[in-house]
Amino acid sequence: MSTATHSDTTICAPATSTGGAIAIIRISGPETLDIIQGISGKDTFKPRYAHYVTIRDQQGNRIDDAIVTYYPAPHSYTGEHAAEISCHASDYIVTQILQQLTRLGATPAQPGEFTQRAFLNGKMDLAQAEAVADLIASTNAATHRMAMSQLRGGISSELHSLSDQLQRLTALLELELDFSEHEDLEFADRTELLNLSQTILQAISKLAESFKTGRAIKQGIGVTIVGKTNVGKSTLLNRLLGEERAIVSDTHGTTRDTIEDTITLHGITFRFIDTAGLRQTSDAIEQIGIQRTYQAIEQAQIVLWLIDQQPTDDELQTMQIRCQDKHLLIIQNKIDTLQQPTMAQFGPSTMRIPQKDLAISAKQNASSQNKTINIASLAISAKQNMGIGALEEAIYAAANIPQISENDVIVTSARHYEILLRAQTPILRVIDALTQHIPADLVAEDLRATITTLNEITGQSITPETTLQSIFSHFCIGK
Ligand code: GDP
Repeated sequence: MSTATHSDTTICAPATSTGGAIAIIRISGPETLDIIQGISGKDTFKPRYAHYVTIRDQQGNRIDDAIVTYYPAPHSYTGEHAAEISCHASDYIVTQILQQLTRLGATPAQPGEFTQRAFLNGKMDLAQAEAVADLIASTNAATHRMAMSQLRGGISSELHSLSDQLQRLTALLELELDFSEHEDLEFADRTELLNLSQTILQAISKLAESFKTGRAIKQGIGVTIVGKTNVGKSTLLNRLLGEERAIVSDTHGTTRDTIEDTITLHGITFRFIDTAGLRQTSDAIEQIGIQRTYQAIEQAQIVLWLIDQQPTDDELQTMQIRCQDKHLLIIQNKIDTLQQPTMAQFGPSTMRIPQKDLAISAKQNASSQNKTINIASLAISAKQNMGIGALEEAIYAAANIPQISENDVIVTSARHYEILLRAQTPILRVIDALTQHIPADLVAEDLRATITTLNEITGQSITPETTLQSIFSHFCIGK
């Protein structure tokens, strides 16, 4: 895809996937009107009106009756002349129509090419274009809300406001440079500049910090179930997946083996890691082995450690070391088999396990001095469905997802996160320079660098072709 030729060609692609009753084919580019006139034999297309037409091939054979809507530039998704053809959703019909479109001069679109054109024509900035892909991929309330916020310009307007403030101060500093023969002339109030730079650094850090939440929500939060053979891990997994799994397999019409085990709690997706063995026979569980369990723990954010008897001090300590920086839920299973007095004996207080989300510093080894581990414990019966609701709430609480409101800006893209981290360096230098009374020209340079870096997120700063290609290649064709 070349940015230089984006408006010279007319592209076409199906915008809907296979299945359903209606398929939509999109066209965008300078030849759009000629092409829809060519396939329909109709001369006039009133802008943004639905026109009922018959589409025919070269020999005049009827392919389908369809609805064609014409969107003249600039009032279209791409900002170019564009059209949509709604036809019957037969793969054969769609292919036939696409053949006619290409015969009349259109070329098949690359993945994301419609959205890339929308970006290049100023219909949306880069962050909004990326949000289109996220919106299509959204699978739950939280990912949908974050994509919607970004599409509506959430991160863009936050960045514009930061950039505007930086621009104003940079302009004042540059004015000082123009009058440099008057050495004591200061247009930009240094205290205000320092305060603002600190505010901007905080705002950048806060945005970068939000990526932790954004990534967790977007990718799903990793959970693993560990414990000895026969402690009830597969019973618990099946209990937690419950109807959820049935719904997933119905929707996608796929076999269970290909589905990642996930549950949705309060609109957040939790991914169970390495559960393949758990769903098979006990033999398979045995084969998973201790190393594999440790690997699963590594990848998880929340570890469900299932026990049916008091763990030894050694076991507790090993688990605490393995679960640093994670949430460990120690779950006592099979409480249905316990007599009341025995149950008390198993109770969390006698297990020397902190009862509720108690953060303790793990000082077991030198390399982990700053790491913490959050531990909670509860008792359930996976088989008899006791305490499962409380466990689900504990899993959700362990995810530690802050309440996200409509207006919160959450960074969900690794590209944005990397840029935000990069933008911290020049603004930190500005703060340093201001406290050490370094000359205005150096400060202005770093302020400019901060602005240029932040603008990479919205694509206002020159975006390399390779970056654009990697962003839009993740889109589907027709978007
Ligand atoms: P895994 O090896 O850890 O995956 O354990 P399983 O889930 O295969 O369970 C081992 C045995 O414990 C099975 O016979 C289960 O029915 C039984 N089991 C699991 N959970 C409970 C429970 O809460 N109460 C009782 N009584 N039995 C359970």
